[in-house]
Amino acid sequence: MEKNESKKLKALSDIASIDITLELDNILLEILKTTCETMNAHSGTMMLVDEDSNELKMVSSYGLPEDYIERVYKAARKAGLPISSSPSGDVLRTGNPYPVPDIFKEPKDRPWFELARQIGFSAQLFTPISQGLKVIGLLNIYMEKVHDFTEEEINFVTIAASQASSVVQNARMCMKLEGKIRETHEALFYSEARYRELFENAQDPMYTHDMKGFFRSINKAGLEQLGCTENEEVIGTHISRWLAPESYKLVEERFRKIYFGEPLDQPVIIEVICKNGTHRWGEVRTSLIRHENQVIGTHGIARDITEKKKLEQHLRESEVKYRELFENAQEAMYTIDMNGTFLAMNNVGLNALRVRKDEIIGTNLSEWLTPESMETARHRLSEFAKGIQLGPMVYEIVRKDGEHIWIEVNNRYIMEGGKITGIHGIARDITEKKRLEQKIKDYHAKLEKSYEELLEADRIKTEFMSNITHELLTPLTSIKGFVELIDDETMGKINAEQKKSLEIIKRNSERLIRLIKELLDTSNLENNKLGLQFRLVSVNSILSRTIQDIHPQANDKQITIIKDIQQIPEIWGDEERLVQVLTNLLINAIKFTPHEGKITIRAAEDIEHVKISISDTGIGIPADKLKNIFDRFYQIDGSASRKYGGVGLGLSICKSIIDRHFGTIWAESNGHGSTFHIVLPKLRYDPGENNV
Ligand code: ADP
Repeated sequence: MEKNESKKLKALSDIASIDITLELDNILLEILKTTCETMNAHSGTMMLVDEDSNELKMVSSYGLPEDYIERVYKAARKAGLPISSSPSGDVLRTGNPYPVPDIFKEPKDRPWFELARQIGFSAQLFTPISQGLKVIGLLNIYMEKVHDFTEEEINFVTIAASQASSVVQNARMCMKLEGKIRETHEALFYSEARYRELFENAQDPMYTHDMKGFFRSINKAGLEQLGCTENEEVIGTHISRWLAPESYKLVEERFRKIYFGEPLDQPVIIEVICKNGTHRWGEVRTSLIRHENQVIGTHGIARDITEKKKLEQHLRESEVKYRELFENAQEAMYTIDMNGTFLAMNNVGLNALRVRKDEIIGTNLSEWLTPESMETARHRLSEFAKGIQLGPMVYEIVRKDGEHIWIEVNNRYIMEGGKITGIHGIARDITEKKRLEQKIKDYHAKLEKSYEELLEADRIKTEFMSNITHELLTPLTSIKGFVELIDDETMGKINAEQKKSLEIIKRNSERLIRLIKELLDTSNLENNKLGLQFRLVSVNSILSRTIQDIHPQANDKQITIIKDIQQIPEIWGDEERLVQVLTNLLINAIKFTPHEGKITIRAAEDIEHVKISISDTGIGIPADKLKNIFDRFYQIDGSASRKYGGVGLGLSICKSIIDRHFGTIWAESNGHGSTFHIVLPKLRYDPGENNV
């Protein structure tokens, strides 16, 4: 092989084996350099068609000044032509090499004559860098002297150019790939960083496991949930170390499902045992990590629901406690929904209604209440529904056996999830109380009726008394009048025996008249018809008149009357009625005092009152009877009326008369006699006036 030829072959092999990972510029320069050196050329340039603009651009030069490319473009601009106006444009169009043995004879090179002269090259060979039929650039060789390029030389440069083509293509491909790879790398980098960030900063615990159940990663929240601070405490450990036995079983089952491609229930609640032994609960969602279509691990997101769990546990416990209380309560308890349907009832309640649980649960209140009670219940239900708590209420219930019972209930509404869902009731059987109340009401009504009847009877009696006494008094007065006429011997002489008999008739008719007057007074008092005639009266004259009147009767029993009477000013009163009072007291004193007894009459005054008292040495009055003796028809000893006469009206009339004088009357007794006191108000004396 010729030396020249082997040199060219080596050059071609050098070009083919240029390291394509180098920068494209360097590759081009390397190709240029190898070609130029092999050709003993002055210099060379490389042109490429821009992929985006399709414009031919000079991209590389060898053996030329640094600013050469710039000067080429400057010369073109000066000539007002593109660089493709040179023979390079022909190569681009035809795809054939274009040798220029003498630049200065090539009109297409005219714009660059000056430049070639300055730099010192005289011949050019333009060869196409082709890819298939398309020319993608040019490899140009410049010779110092005018040079007739041989066919062999043209072939060599053309082959070098085609070698360059594949190098350029590869390099371009590499560049593109690198760009893609870089982009992908960057994207991956960013997405991983983003994922990391999300993973680390997530509020919820996150972790990954391999398919054997070993932790491969865990975020901060996850570490916290397990009570750990360092990744190393968890990563590499097996999940069984962290799960309660039941939960571990559950997780194993999930791994089995993953193996067999079965769907997983989401989420699942897992009980975790932390580093310090405390238990926590998480609501876990699992997703699968695949590599080349194979599941290589799981990714879990767990929401810590420990607080919720504890609350649920607490609720469950309190519900159990509530159930116990409910079932074992001493009082009837029940719950109903807002429609009044029974949801629960304890044993006491069931017993009270005499029903079994299944006979009441699911039934409505309306089946057990009387229509009136149901109306009340309906109203209360609507009030409770508005969130108004109401006080106790009494309901009438119709039991299964038809018997009516009464209950007093205390209700509270039940709140669930911020909504009123039902009513809880505690009921007390008050049937007995109700019955008693009813009985009392009945008695009361009866009493009221008998009282009215009594009043009516009393009215009839009073009326009768008033009538009958009038009827009795008229004939008696006339009897007494005629007896006195006979006794006066106005109608002729009578003998001593007749006189004695007349005396008896007179005394008895006087007694009868007094009795009848007492009855009349009483009935008048009851009818408020006892009219009093008030005027100024002298107590001293009333006393002497009365004492004089009863003297004969005192004498009959040889009773001494002692007077301790002071001079008393006049008072405002009814003289006749006051005489009646004092006569009555004196007659009683004589009546209940044995023969040769003593009656003391006292009268005195103080600043405001006149005080009169009548004391006797008679049978006295038991202390517990002192008040009763002023009641109508009251006699201490009923049998005494036969002995002493009287019907027990005198003192009640006295009291009424004294009351109407705004005075008081009372009795005292020491067992050896009685004293009756009367206190009457004195006239008020105003120095300016005579009296009031
Ligand atoms: P009577 O007309 O029956 O005497 P009174 O109202 O005057 O009725 O008296 C009521 C009762 O009071 C009498 O029945 C008697 O028991 C008692 N009594 C009244 N005055 C005296 C007295 N001076 N001494 C003892 N008991 C008296």
